Amino acid sequence: MTRGEALSQGTALLAAAGIGTPRLDASLILADILGIDRSYLLVHDGMELPEENQTIFDEHIQRRIAGENVAYITGHKEFWGLDFFITPDVLVPRPDTEILVEAAIAEIRKMPAASRTGPLRVLDLCTGSGAVAVAVKHEIPDISVSASDISEAALAVAEENARRLLGGKPESRSISFFRSDLLRSLPGKFDLIVSNPPYVPGSMISGLDREVRHEPRLALDGGADGLDYIRRIIAEAPEKMNSPAKLLLEADPRQMPAIAVILGEHRYTDIEVHRDLSGKDRVIGAAFPD
Ligand code: GLN
Repeated sequence: MTRGEALSQGTALLAAAGIGTPRLDASLILADILGIDRSYLLVHDGMELPEENQTIFDEHIQRRIAGENVAYITGHKEFWGLDFFITPDVLVPRPDTEILVEAAIAEIRKMPAASRTGPLRVLDLCTGSGAVAVAVKHEIPDISVSASDISEAALAVAEENARRLLGGKPESRSISFFRSDLLRSLPGKFDLIVSNPPYVPGSMISGLDREVRHEPRLALDGGADGLDYIRRIIAEAPEKMNSPAKLLLEADPRQMPAIAVILGEHRYTDIEVHRDLSGKDRVIGAAFPD
């Protein structure tokens, strides 16, 4: 069987199982098995596919049909143009979260350097795979980036991503990782705190797509109204913020009005909402002056 024939077969199986992007998924899975680029695979699809590869391909297609995310099957996912290592211990980075990275970069570029003694300090809370922290540090290397998570397993994935994607740089140029329940055990103060915390209302978790149900509940479940962690971050962040500093949070578009009220109650100012790729309010930012 050729690569192209295997691809058509896998695509047909995924389509029959109701997978939304069958050809894309089948080609990502096959390219990963062959250790080649997806575009290279599509151009060179007449080559014979060795039988051992075919067996693995069939197995991976079956896992996809069972609802496993492509990123968990292949062990990686592209985010911000970077190839992140992914395991089932972390949420798969979403394209929408690139808005959080974009907003963070814009804030950092706006911050004046004049009054500071050391490099600008950025914190990524609930870092998961490290996608946001690594993308920001990759874009702007001369800042200090810290990242934290409560999950030891997630931190191992994030550290691996920092090593692979920021690798070759001296220690001081990389990211400092902390195991912490939100801001509790973090040293120092920050100029910018960003977070994509768990924000799905607990009762909605079982109604999510089958892919999402394979992701760690710890990374999704935000309590009854989904705002448990966001409330805590808003309340606890000022203690860890330089004066002035910014906070940027990803959340569900429907939660934005409630979050704006909570920010106001805690004396944050300059509340601003950023839209995602489908035009939905996805990131909310605010300043905390002294
Ligand atoms: N955006 C995620 C979803 O698709 C939720 C991520 C989160 O809770 N941080 O459900």
